[in-house]
Amino acid sequence: MRINPDKCVACGNCTYVCPMEAIYIDPVIKRATIKRDECVECYACYNGLSQEHLNPTMVRTVRKIFALAKVRFDPEPDVCPTGAFEPDELTWPRVVRRAFSDPRVPHESTGVEGRGTEEVKTNDVSGRVKVGEVGFTIEFGRPGVGARFHEIQEMCWALAEAGVSFEKKNPITSLMSDVATGTLRADILNEKVMSAIVEIKVTVDRTEEIIRLVWAVEKRLGTVIALGVGTRCDENGEDKVVAPILESLGYKLERAKTNIGLGRVKRPLDKPAAKETVNA
Ligand code: SF4
Ligand code: SF4
Repeated sequence: MRINPDKCVACGNCTYVCPMEAIYIDPVIKRATIKRDECVECYACYNGLSQEHLNPTMVRTVRKIFALAKVRFDPEPDVCPTGAFEPDELTWPRVVRRAFSDPRVPHESTGVEGRGTEEVKTNDVSGRVKVGEVGFTIEFGRPGVGARFHEIQEMCWALAEAGVSFEKKNPITSLMSDVATGTLRADILNEKVMSAIVEIKVTVDRTEEIIRLVWAVEKRLGTVIALGVGTRCDENGEDKVVAPILESLGYKLERAKTNIGLGRVKRPLDKPAAKETVNA
């Protein structure tokens, strides 16, 4: 994202909408400026503010006249009065920033939609986490913090060394140059994104080991991590296997998402669908 200095009138409205605090008013040139390396291309500024197209010279002149009279003239707070935002034509590798930061764009860089993961939300259809397994979502970054791929790689290296299985239909996995070692493409390592999710699964008996591993690696990273855990309930809708492990590690459990089987497939997941015949 760029701000056209010829159009910007330094009203400051955009500095409040950037979730990465990447926009500031440059005191030298007296224009809003984007810290390019901090911008994650989320488009919150461009899409979140109405773009009006007032004449910049006219707005600056009016503001100066008002300032002389010690009266402030500011546009409405949800407006860029002069339409100064100009999205860049994003190329590789910078385009990955947008794919992981603007939820409205398809994941063109990775071939997966949105942030690109269904996690365990549709496990009753996908069957990704089976009985006796536990699925983890390890989410890096948040608005205001973000994450860089070299931080994500550090976690992936540790997870790969522990022999976990990375979810194939996940954008981070698709950006790995070597899934066996958890190594990401070298050309994206310094790119910054709003957030990204690594998905893995292991057998239930490794739950505590993996959580402790994530805790240990997180201490070395400059971002924040949210850990999600998915497992299968028993026939009574209860989980008496993973929940006690989480509680013994100090987590107070609240159910976040429960699949009740409405999307249940009627055939075994490992068998192809039978061909349907239509009688005329
Ligand atoms: S909202 Fe528009 S005119 Fe105001 S500071 Fe930002 S870019 Fe400049
Ligand atoms: S695209 Fe997002 S991160 Fe970049 S300047 Fe705009 S709001 Fe901030």
